[in-house]
Parts: sequence; C-alpha cells; structure tokens
Amino acid sequence: VPAAQHVHTLLASYPDFPLPGILFRDLNPVFADALAFRAIIDELTERYRGQFDAVAGIEARGFLLAAGIGYAAGCAVLAVRKGGKLPGTVLAEEYDLEYGSARLELEVGQLPAGSRVLIVDDVLATGGTVAATARLIERAGYTMVGVGVVLELADLDGRSRIGDTPVHTIISL
Ligand code: IMP
Repeated sequence: VPAAQHVHTLLASYPDFPLPGILFRDLNPVFADALAFRAIIDELTERYRGQFDAVAGIEARGFLLAAGIGYAAGCAVLAVRKGGKLPGTVLAEEYDLEYGSARLELEVGQLPAGSRVLIVDDVLATGGTVAATARLIERAGYTMVGVGVVLELADLDGRSRIGDTPVHTIISL
C-alpha cells in the first residue's frame, strides 16, 4: 500500500483546535500504524537517496521521521529544537506560526562544513517552521538539499517560503 493511501486513511482532523478557526490535522494515528510509518520512512528515504549526509528533524514529530530516515539511510541525525532546550553554543531563529510565534535552535559544530542536510517535519503549513530551520542549517555552514513532510496544507502556500529547494510531501490537502 502506498504511503499516501495510509495517510489519507488514518489522518484525523479536529476543527477549532487549538484555536477557533483552525482545522488541526492529527498525524499521530499515522505514526501509530506500523505499515504506514514504514511506508512514509521508505518513501522519503528513497526520494532523496544519495543526496544527503544528514537528516534534520524539527521538534517534535519531525524527530520521529528523522530517526527513521537516519536509520534507513545510515546517515547523521540532527535535532532542531524549540527555544531554550539546548546547551552550549546555539544558533536561534524566531518566526511566526499559523497561530502564535516560536523560536527554533540548533547546536553548532555537529557536522563537517558543507554537509548536505535533508529537513523533515510532519506538516508543512505556512512554511515558517521549515524556513526558519533552513536558515539555521545555512548559518551552521551546511547545505539544505531537500525538504520532506508527511502532509502539506497547500492553501497556506508554504512552498513559496522555501525557494528552489525540492519539497517532497506524502500527501497534499
Ligand atoms: P508552519 O510553520 O506554519 O509551516 O507550521 C508547521 C509546523 O506547525 C509544524 O512543525 C507542524 O508540526 C505544526 N502544525 C501546523 N499545522 C498543523 C496541523 O494542522 N497539525 C499538526 N501540526 C501542525
């Protein structure tokens, strides 16, 4: 069964969560299905096979994807964390969310300069989160080679904030 079919079947939607007017898409039932999870990891890994040295997961559900892809591809894994959780020398980027604002951070010096990094997260909405992560990756001295997400909310046009980097989505709604 293709990954997209698993996601369409298992995805749950919650109107007015966490705020009135927001239709929240819940991917936890997708991650909780063994075959769906494996199909997603396999599709994202294959799409970018040979093109990346590391995979960067965005807290928190991006970590789940990054762990699976890192294992499947035998590559390095980076954790892009929400503000205030990392010690040592960190780079930080502030950005606006679909609801509210946020801060993401990355520890410096984890990979060789010029490492090719694939960025992964569960949902691409306005693109602010991925765009902030892309700035962190570039500021750390790495090259962003691609973006992989499970679900793209196409109406919000997140791709327009990502530029020329390829974006692979399992499904788009
Ligand atoms: P963006 O920055 O607007 O693209 O929002 C993407 C980030 O917000 C991702 O890290 C998602 O986990 C989260 N997000 C936005 N909308 C949803 C949703 O409907 N369901 C789950 N997560 C969402």
